[in-house]
Amino acid sequence: MHSLVFCPEPGELLEFNQGTLLAALQQIGLISNTPSSASSGCATDFPAGDRFLDLIIFMGCSPAVQLEPGAQGSAHCYISLQQHPSPGQLYAGSQSRPARCGLCKAPIETSRLLGCIEKQRLPTCSQCQAELNWSDVTWNKTIGMARVALVINNIFPHEAVPADELISTIKNGSGINWRYFYI
Ligand SMILES: [Zn+2]
Repeated sequence: MHSLVFCPEPGELLEFNQGTLLAALQQIGLISNTPSSASSGCATDFPAGDRFLDLIIFMGCSPAVQLEPGAQGSAHCYISLQQHPSPGQLYAGSQSRPARCGLCKAPIETSRLLGCIEKQRLPTCSQCQAELNWSDVTWNKTIGMARVALVINNIFPHEAVPADELISTIKNGSGINWRYFYI
């Protein structure tokens, strides 16, 4: 299964009040009022709230959306607020296209970026040889990096589209601009 990931736009301040954002998401009914007991480490997990299906629009003939854990532990939709130490976590999946150098537009292999994060180094473009700040990396609709991310877990890419109400609530509840992509 795949995920829909919201993260602050590159260059945005990250010092927003996460409690205010979570309260706003609870108020519109994206998430339930109580985190799930499975929350751990860098993530706080929430079951879907009572307006989840108004705020995430499921397109086409997608199968019934499962909002609660199944008997066999089958994948169900839930929402996570995740935090990571600097420089952040790379969010990429099996369908991700590579990010690009912001200077010369050459693709940068995802494995190369992962190695740089692990070694706490800045990436270097293999084409123009520039050492890039993380803000110089150009992400796309299938990949991104974040220190804070709101993740809708276990959906099909592009079949689950965030409603305008959700996009504006995330923006207004945090006071910063966000982007989203599918992994
Ligand atoms: Zn380059």
